Amino acid sequence: DQTTVLIIGAGPAGLVLGNLLRAKGIDTLILERGSREHVQARARAGFLGANSARVLTEHGLAAGMLHNGRLHDTCAFRDASGEFELNYGKLGRGEMHTVYPQHDLVTDLIAEYLDRGGELRFGVTVTDVDAETATVRFRHAGGTGEARGRFLAGCDGSNGVTRQAIPAARVTRHARDHGIAWLAVLTQAPQSMAAVTYAMHDNGFAGHMARSPEVTRYYLQVPPGDDPAAWTDERIWAELGVRMRVDQFGPLRQGPVTERRIVHLRSDIIDPIQHARLFLVGDAASLISPSAAKGANLAIMEAEILAGALTDALTRDDDHALASYSRTCLPRIWRAQEFSHWMIALLHGPTRTEPDAGFEHALRRARLDSLRDCRAHQDFFAESYVGI
Ligand code: FAD
Repeated sequence: DQTTVLIIGAGPAGLVLGNLLRAKGIDTLILERGSREHVQARARAGFLGANSARVLTEHGLAAGMLHNGRLHDTCAFRDASGEFELNYGKLGRGEMHTVYPQHDLVTDLIAEYLDRGGELRFGVTVTDVDAETATVRFRHAGGTGEARGRFLAGCDGSNGVTRQAIPAARVTRHARDHGIAWLAVLTQAPQSMAAVTYAMHDNGFAGHMARSPEVTRYYLQVPPGDDPAAWTDERIWAELGVRMRVDQFGPLRQGPVTERRIVHLRSDIIDPIQHARLFLVGDAASLISPSAAKGANLAIMEAEILAGALTDALTRDDDHALASYSRTCLPRIWRAQEFSHWMIALLHGPTRTEPDAGFEHALRRARLDSLRDCRAHQDFFAESYVGI
């Protein structure tokens, strides 16, 4: 069972890569642990940056996004001193987000990939990976099996097996637990404000993000290790009301909570993100906290870079881009990590263990004031927020 490029994982990374390679007539096989129904229903990201929209559009993958996605150019910051909006679409490079739920994008990408003649097997869990021979072993309902490629793309997310196939002696891992957790909530309710809203409160951070006309995502900072089941609908809406300061700014449009899960804000990057015939893409290469909505955008960026490099190697016998895949991606990954880290510091108060909480509070206040008043700071924010 041999293919040219064997891809592990049918998330945004694996599916964009598969589609771009199929467009060049390159054989691909994607092995995916979940069922098609499962991956097409898994609600996660929603904010696609300008580069993601470009990649999808240029490669003929944007029909759904262009039809159903919504452009978004403003965010708001709310705290005890009031609220201000940043119209980032008119700042920095003048770029906007496209709001399009990740599971809708994944659904589109699967359909297009199959249309392009790509092979995709659901319900197949890869258990062993050999980066030298580009061989994997897997299990599925019918037993076990083996597949081999000329190249292997590890697109199996942050808990996948492919990153473990790089020998420990060859790789440096940079991992950080930011010590912060969010209760990520999906509600069957229209958005309450026109803009993405970040609310800072002594109880913790709260966020509001539109997903579609009927669905809104909210985040609540909670103690790490908190049990999502302890958050009833009533408790979620009450706490959102407090942190969003509805007394001052008006009520939230409520509806049933359809999903609640705890997301720990963590970063986990390995360097290099390639070894022998194996190349890592997306969360498998670098996990990033959702504070700046960069994860899916990095996955799409890396998938395009790797697709170009593999195409050069396979169609022109030119390995240069492939050899420097890691060196091309890692500086961009770190820029995103740096901005995400900056956002974490902006959105969250000092943790209880911080020695001088007053100092940290004052710094955060100053950072927010600067973002409200300083055009250069706003331009930096806008470029980093939508760009990669
Ligand atoms: P994944 O989407 O995780 O896909 C990996 C695939 O590999 C999965 O389908 C999995 O089933 C499969 N797999 C795993 N192990 C195996 C195995 N052993 N064998 C076979 N298959 C396997 N990012 C943004 O850019 N913007 C946002 O607004 C945003 N919001 C987010 C909100 C939340 C609540 C969360 C959790 C994440 C958010 N992200 C956001 C991050 C984004 O969802 C991820 O970065 C993105 O899914 C990464 O894509 P990927 O293809 O690398 O990995």
